[in-house]
Amino acid sequence: MHKLIAALAALCWTQAVDARAMLLKADAYLDVQSGELIKPAEILVENGLIAAINRDSWPDEVEIVALPGKTLLPGLMDMHVHLDLDFEQADFGVVVTESGSEAALRGAKNAERTLLAGFTTVRNVGQVHPTLELIDVALAGASERGWVRAPRIIAAGHMISILGGHGDLAMAEGLAEGVLELGPEYGVVSGVDEAIKATRFQIKHGAKVIKIHATAGVMSLEESVGAQQLNDQEMAAVVAEAERHNIPVAAHGHGTEGIKAAIRAGVSSIEHGSMLDDEAIELLIDRGVFLVPTNGLMDLINLDLLPAQKRAKAEFVSPRMNQSLTAAIKAGVKVALGTDAPLIPHGQNAFEIVKMTERGMSPLQAIQSATTVAAELLRIDNLGQIKSGWHADIIAVDGNPLDDIASLQAVSFVMKAGRIYKGAP
Ligand SMILES: [Zn+2]
Repeated sequence: MHKLIAALAALCWTQAVDARAMLLKADAYLDVQSGELIKPAEILVENGLIAAINRDSWPDEVEIVALPGKTLLPGLMDMHVHLDLDFEQADFGVVVTESGSEAALRGAKNAERTLLAGFTTVRNVGQVHPTLELIDVALAGASERGWVRAPRIIAAGHMISILGGHGDLAMAEGLAEGVLELGPEYGVVSGVDEAIKATRFQIKHGAKVIKIHATAGVMSLEESVGAQQLNDQEMAAVVAEAERHNIPVAAHGHGTEGIKAAIRAGVSSIEHGSMLDDEAIELLIDRGVFLVPTNGLMDLINLDLLPAQKRAKAEFVSPRMNQSLTAAIKAGVKVALGTDAPLIPHGQNAFEIVKMTERGMSPLQAIQSATTVAAELLRIDNLGQIKSGWHADIIAVDGNPLDDIASLQAVSFVMKAGRIYKGAP
């Protein structure tokens, strides 16, 4: 028994900290800032960081990881996922039939798929299960300690929404009064004081981003797609509270007026941003607010399968989402990649990168949206580029991804914090 415990302890140590020096040898690496493809790529990784690149000589004892024919890129980042939900053997109803423990394990499974697809960092903009314990914060911690094979996770805990709004699960599930009446701990608020309490509760328990619902949703049961939900004072109170901790606020926004109100309240990113007019785009640029468009999923939804009311809303919003994104890209809005997985299934996150190039981005811009721009939104230094001294989050694809962006959908090697998760030769 003692031997087993000792063996397990040793295993845990190697998982948590992989301090071994490794030399990655590939054909090339992409400087995602300049777009330059640099040949060859010899990258020394040590203690989870990139120690040196393309030096004349290397230490003899270093372990060589040969990746012939491959191009290296920084690990990709998805700024909008919900890890505790997927639609395998399940529909949205699992949020009220599944325990928090089950949801955490479901989340771990989805996190592993995401990591193996080359996404080494994700922002979980809200867990969907109404548990008092924060599932996504627990996943973030488990990932950090090496308990699960998962990306770096920046967790929001519960999304903050008005009573009866997009984030009030009793609405989404059409439940009778009294069945599931949620309060500020679960992100359901009425008034400034409750909005502050909801924010403080998520931060107290480990949230590193705060998610609010500025407007109604496309797929939710409310009448209007675009109506503003949290009022101006509630949004401003959440932002003031979160920013005191240097925690950015992400605002779900479909309708134009709600989006503008959220930007004026000081949020850091607009999620979806379906209906942007010229003024909204100008506001995004003037205030340096990021757009996380979650656009690709609309190409995956079979509208014919939706009930009539939802179909009508989706048909109304879909073309506007495309127009808004293309106009925002053209105007120079900072666009960060987000899939809204599981609406794009976990592990197929790179589909969104391909879709970005169909909405007006160059392949390099699309890759930047998932690397440098995302890192800026996260306020994390030393992440999102292959640079000496930066985090050793490195992936590999065949050939030049600037010539074939779809190659990002077939990532063959994944390293996060200096540890190899996929494709060790
Ligand atoms: Zn979402």
